[in-house]
Amino acid sequence: MNMDSNPHPTADPTSSEPHRLFLHEPGWRVSLKVGSEREFCYAMAPGQDFYHRLLDGEVYLHTNEERLCLACAERRGLLSYKPKGLRDPVPIVEIIDESGEDGPGVYRRELSDSDH
Ligand SMILES: [Zn+2]
Repeated sequence: MNMDSNPHPTADPTSSEPHRLFLHEPGWRVSLKVGSEREFCYAMAPGQDFYHRLLDGEVYLHTNEERLCLACAERRGLLSYKPKGLRDPVPIVEIIDESGEDGPGVYRRELSDSDH
């Protein structure tokens, strides 16, 4: 009886949220494999000891020397799901030291001095 739409959809950002794909690595370009010409991904998938073939219609990355399917490119860390500006987020850490009153007091004095 609970087959209809879930009244409380679980917000799982990893699976339900569509993501955009970014490629920030210099030299790499995105191409579409068209046709049956034999082209191979230059990386081996885990558990395989052969280079797998790129298939017709497959999106892949390439440089002048290498071709990589998206799966291998992602495994290598070439793909990102964040725009470039957000790639290395600076963690905002607030250090609140309430044990010693000297630190914040000095800080406040410096700030008021620079105001004038
Ligand atoms: Zn591959």
